[in-house]
Amino acid sequence: MNALLVGSREIAPEVRHFLFEIPSVEKLEFTAGQFVSFTQEVHGRSVTRAYSLAAAPDGNRFELCLNRVREGLFSPWIFQLKPGDTIQMRGPLGYFVPRQPFRDSLFIATGTGIAPFRAFLGAEPVRSHAGRITLLFGARYADGLLYRAEFDQFHTDRPGFRFLPTITQPAAAWAGRSGRVQQHLDDALDGRTDVDVYICGLKSMVDEVRDLLKARGFDRKQIISEKYD
Ligand SMILES: Cc1cc2nc3c(=O)[nH]c(=O)nc-3n(C[C@H](O)[C@H](O)[C@H](O)COP(=O)(O)OP(=O)(O)OC[C@H]3O[C@@H](n4cnc5c(N)ncnc54)[C@H](O)[C@@H]3O)c2cc1C
Repeated sequence: MNALLVGSREIAPEVRHFLFEIPSVEKLEFTAGQFVSFTQEVHGRSVTRAYSLAAAPDGNRFELCLNRVREGLFSPWIFQLKPGDTIQMRGPLGYFVPRQPFRDSLFIATGTGIAPFRAFLGAEPVRSHAGRITLLFGARYADGLLYRAEFDQFHTDRPGFRFLPTITQPAAAWAGRSGRVQQHLDDALDGRTDVDVYICGLKSMVDEVRDLLKARGFDRKQIISEKYD
């Protein structure tokens, strides 16, 4: 399939939110948490990269949230795309999706690892889950807390939803949590071991959180993860 770029906007330094559509289909069917795969020739090489769908299904349109990896091959290329440009894609793919039946859950993300959780929160069964959902989100700086206003709003509007942002390099004015997500795991779990934990981000964080959960008695079936590298 070919995806056409409708538009993109900067949502943080070196991070853009992209809106694409697939002109050849009426609807892109997917489950929140899945990803698409792009293939493009960059510097004479055919490069394929995966990107999590960052919003719930919406006709033939889909949204992505991308980080420009400074020395990267593909991400700097996609940042220079203009509306109307097209790119070859495959998907939806992947199994990082809400478990059925969906239970009270803890979502843990760092950086653009937030993308699938934004999709989760906009789609069933997560959207109308009446129980407890906690989102623990880590970034380096406050302006890297992507979609923060949306999650703050959910925190206010949805009785069972808790948003716990944390940053590793806080400015003097920051009054919230600081440090890595690992340091806030116990607070996020709030004494519970009967929740499912979904983790998304770079491998080092995902592996460390997984080890911490296992040490707290979590079964591997309760830990669902997506690694970006
Ligand atoms: C299932 C899946 C879903 C993904 N979803 C997203 C997504 O929604 N948004 C997104 O920005 N990336 C996502 N990625 C990562 C993406 O596929 C690329 O690896 C990333 O864009 C770097 O590609 P590149 O060619 O620019 O860099 P490369 O030349 O491949 O360089 C790789 C370097 O980039 C680092 N890296 C990879 N991803 C990131 C990242 N997100 N932030 C910082 N450093 C990174 C790696 O650790 C490695 O050091 C996903 C990966 C997988 C496997």
